[in-house]
Amino acid sequence: MGEKSPKAVITDGDLAMRDAIKNVLPDATHRLCGWHLQRNACETIKNPNLLRDFKGLIYDNNDHRDFDRRWEAILDKHNLVGSTWIEKTYETRAIWSHCFLWDKFFGYIRTTSQCEGINSLIRFYINRKNTLIDFMHNLDRALKKYRNNELIADFKSQCLEPVMITSLEVYERSASCYFTRNIFKEICNEIQRAGALNIKVLSTTLDKVEFSVTALGDLAKDRRVEVDRGKNLFLCSCKLFESRGIPYSHVLCAMKFENILEFPDSLIYKRWTKNAKNEFISTEMPVNDDVERVLKFRVGALASNCNKLCDIACKDLTKFDEVQFELVNLVIRL
Ligand SMILES: [Zn+2]
Repeated sequence: MGEKSPKAVITDGDLAMRDAIKNVLPDATHRLCGWHLQRNACETIKNPNLLRDFKGLIYDNNDHRDFDRRWEAILDKHNLVGSTWIEKTYETRAIWSHCFLWDKFFGYIRTTSQCEGINSLIRFYINRKNTLIDFMHNLDRALKKYRNNELIADFKSQCLEPVMITSLEVYERSASCYFTRNIFKEICNEIQRAGALNIKVLSTTLDKVEFSVTALGDLAKDRRVEVDRGKNLFLCSCKLFESRGIPYSHVLCAMKFENILEFPDSLIYKRWTKNAKNEFISTEMPVNDDVERVLKFRVGALASNCNKLCDIACKDLTKFDEVQFELVNLVIRL
């Protein structure tokens, strides 16, 4: 994989894979699939009320002490003290609870559902009576469906202008310029959440300022946001940027307080940007022999940059004239 090894691996409940992953991918963080854990809990304990409490332990963003407190409460509430499954599950908590994986990057993935989705789609196109040739043709059809989905997503990100819906339009517009459409929607939710937060300055030095950010009506649980004004760095105690890679409401609240109008580079995670594939396209194309795919990539990359050029040039007459002149010359030269 381009001489890069994965940083994160999600597997189902097969613990035998844990040692193999440690040996083969020593730098990767291993996580157990949340959905499989829930299914195991349902099958083993057979108590529908347990599932709701157990889900909170898998996905909520709490600290270790809070995890232990909630775990004890669940054992008491559902009378599970002494259960072998419960004891074994507790031993592996560091690889399934968000409390222990909070600062590790997993994007949006906490289950193996994407992998299951691929299996399900391939099963839709392929059946056991296929000859080898049918199998190859059908697999190709399944891949074309994925590629088409990707093209549609790219088109929406590059060509459609979203309607601004929040009161912090400057952040929304900035996010729409940088991020793909799906990530933009997530950031819009965070921008809206930022409106319901209170912020106060805790300490200030020459370059750094520390804030306490609390939710309206919940002053007891605060998040600490540290802003390095010199380096334009934002650190929040929730570590949600580190685990998901998008600017969170706490950080947006601090940006608003500091009157910062553009997303700094430190908050733009390249993986989620519209141009994330550009570097891949320019490096991978010479060795790629799928002509149709290469052409589609090239059109996408060129269209992305042309859109940006048009966006900049249309707003200023001098720039418009300059771009028109250069483009005409370029077309003649090519
Ligand atoms: Zn935060």
